[in-house]
This record gives sequence, C-alpha cells and structure tokens, in this order.
Amino acid sequence: MTMFNEAMAMKKELVACRRDLHAHPELAWTEFRTASKIARELKRLGYEVLMGDQCMKEDEMMGVPSEAVLQECMQRAIAEGADPELVSRMQGGKTGVVGIMHFDKPGKTVGLRFDIDCLLVDENSTDDHKPSREGFNSLHPGLMHSCGHDGHATIGLGVARLIAAHREEMAGTVKICFQPGEEGVMGARGMVASGIVDDVDYFLSGHIGLGNGEDDSLVCMTEGFLATSKIDAIFTGKPAHAGANPEKGRNALLAAAEASIALHTISRHSAGPSRINVGVLKAGTGRNVIPDQALIQFETRGGSTEINQYMESEARRMIRAAADLYGVEVRLEAKGSAASGNSSPDMGKEIYEVVKGLGVYKDLELSRHVSGSEDCSYFLSRVQQHGGKAVYMLYGTKEAAGHHTSEFDFNEDVLPLTTYTMTELVKHFGNK
Ligand SMILES: [Zn+2]
Ligand SMILES: [Zn+2]
Repeated sequence: MTMFNEAMAMKKELVACRRDLHAHPELAWTEFRTASKIARELKRLGYEVLMGDQCMKEDEMMGVPSEAVLQECMQRAIAEGADPELVSRMQGGKTGVVGIMHFDKPGKTVGLRFDIDCLLVDENSTDDHKPSREGFNSLHPGLMHSCGHDGHATIGLGVARLIAAHREEMAGTVKICFQPGEEGVMGARGMVASGIVDDVDYFLSGHIGLGNGEDDSLVCMTEGFLATSKIDAIFTGKPAHAGANPEKGRNALLAAAEASIALHTISRHSAGPSRINVGVLKAGTGRNVIPDQALIQFETRGGSTEINQYMESEARRMIRAAADLYGVEVRLEAKGSAASGNSSPDMGKEIYEVVKGLGVYKDLELSRHVSGSEDCSYFLSRVQQHGGKAVYMLYGTKEAAGHHTSEFDFNEDVLPLTTYTMTELVKHFGNK
C-alpha cells in the first residue's frame, strides 16, 4: 500500500479523533484533556515526549487563568478520561506537548507545529449544523472548536503515526510541537522561548481552510502576518454620589472613554501598515454613582514588529495621559502578542514542486498574502533567526461558515489529505 493509500485508510480514525476533540473543547492553557490524549498517543507510537517545563517557559506565558480555573479544568479533564499522571505534569497551565523521533539515517531536523485550543463561542445546536446533527457538538457550554484546531491536533497525531510507520524512509529528526493558546496569540511565545525549535532546519505549520473555499487545495506558503499586541487597561478611580458630592469622585469611565478615542488617533507610520482597535469598554455601576472602575481591551497591529512596537508605545502613553487627565490610576496588562512573520520563499517554492509531484491536489497555489495575525510567527522567525527555513501553509477545504462563528465546520477529507502531504514533506526535508 502506498503512503497515500495508507493515509486515506486512516480517515475513519482521524474523523473519530477530531470529533472526540470537537466534543471536548478546551481554552488556552486548559487543554489538559487534549494534551493528555496527544501525549498518550505519542508515547504509544514510540516518540520521546516533552511536557511542562521541558517545552514551556513560564515567564513568557501570557494570559494564564487563575489557579482555581486551572484546577477546575484539570478535574474536568480527568473526569472526561484524561490520564491523571499526565495532567499532573501540566501544572500551571503548561499544556504544550512535543514528540521527538530520531531516525537511523542521518539528516535534517524538521519541526512541525499544531495548535490545539478552542474559542469562547457557543456552538449552534440545531440540526442545520453537522456536529449537532451527528452528535459530536461541544459538551462544554460556551466553548467551541470554531477555528479548526481540533482538526490541527488530529492532523498532528495522524502525521506522527504515519511517520512512525515509515521511520525507515525518514532521516534526521522530527519534532512535532502541539501548542496551547493560539487564540488571543498567547501560547507560542512561551513554547518558542523554551528553545524547542532552535535546532530546527526546516519548519512547517499551517491552518485549515483559511480563506480558501475549495476542497483539495493547498497554499504552499503565506506572507504578511501582522505583528500584534493584545492589552487590557484597567482604570481605578474613586466613587462618589453624583448628586451629593460629585467633586469627591474620580471618574474612571471618562478616562477610559477619553483613552479609547485618543487611541484611534495615533498617527499612522510611514514604514508600513498599522492597526488599532478598542474592542471592549466596560465601566460604571449605576446611574447616580461617579464610576470608579473601567476596563478597555484593545489591540495594536503592525506590518513589522517595529511598527507594532511604535503603535503599542504610543497607545500606552495615551492611556497614561488619559488617566492623568482624570486623576485616576491605570494598570496595563499584556494579554497576548505575536511577531510579524513571513514564510521562507525558497522553502515555499520547494514545497510547491514536491507537492506538485504528488499529484493529489486539484488546486495548488504557491503563495498568498494574509493580513491577520497568528502567533506561529514566533516559530517562523525564531527558526529563521537560527539559520533554518520556515513555512506557514493553508490547507484548503470547504467550510460551512466563517472561522470563529457558531456554525463553523469543515470537510473532514482535509484530515487524511493533509496528514499525507505533511508526512511526505517531513520525509523530503529530513532527507535533504
Ligand atoms: Zn482562530
Ligand atoms: Zn485558528
């Protein structure tokens, strides 16, 4: 049986894996059940498995929930079948997992990365939505795999299995990274900072169905990921009776409002694109009280890491000035960040040639410009800084609705096909 046929024959199990993950979605840093399933399978396949501090650097982990939330999610994971011993190795939300396999034949080190977290989205529970109709919709209210990371984790395990079955054709080393917390761009930084991809010669990652509505299609590389920072500003003033003694209050709501408008006036940068958005403003407790609490959640983006840094430092300056204007305190909390990132063009071209030779795609696109952000950019730039090459692909598939919506779903044929393609690419680049 050829490797392609083997991958196709795995479809039933890949679909079952994806549906199990889809039914048990877990948010950033709480992917205890997902990571336990991954670690268990990697061990079974004969991989050396790194977890916890072995592949996560604690002080670079952003937006980790409280210990109480982590404990609750650990208990839920164990109740839903996670291995307690493995879960205990993920204390503090260190839910990253890496599987490493060295092959007999000397060769290059190939790194892969798959993100595994879900979103705060309520899944559609009507029969119009396939996961609900076929009984694998989310068992966790308010949480949903609506970006396809259930598919990414499944493909990662599929690739791990196919590589292990063909280890005599492989060369060098493969490192398969399962990354927590991509949503909100929180997870990659901590994993990359552990040094896990510093020795990688060729790095591959990608996303299911992003901006490509056709089945059996592949974009071999993307360029143009924007650098981004996600920040919360928490304003604290002084409450007072609005009728009896307003002069005794310090108005946090007005400071937050002033800051929100000011942020949108930051001068554009001549060196490239920039973005700013205040997405949330919450303030106040009642009509007749001078509001002493306010929160804004905002993000900046830039065409390069430097432009984003400019946007972020201007934003911080304006927020402090707005707080000053109203005599309130402000605390700024970094909730997530990503660097700008581009695929290595020569590696992308090589992928195009290799995949063309496989003859399994209807539509093969060399390169596509994207203008979103994706924290895989940390992996791309770290590998490139260390002299390696790195590429981010798009795995085309028909989607039921847009990413991050409660109707999101994808054609599961993408699972065996991507499993096959990535395994061929690991074989190709390892043998270089
Ligand atoms: Zn997403
Ligand atoms: Zn995603």
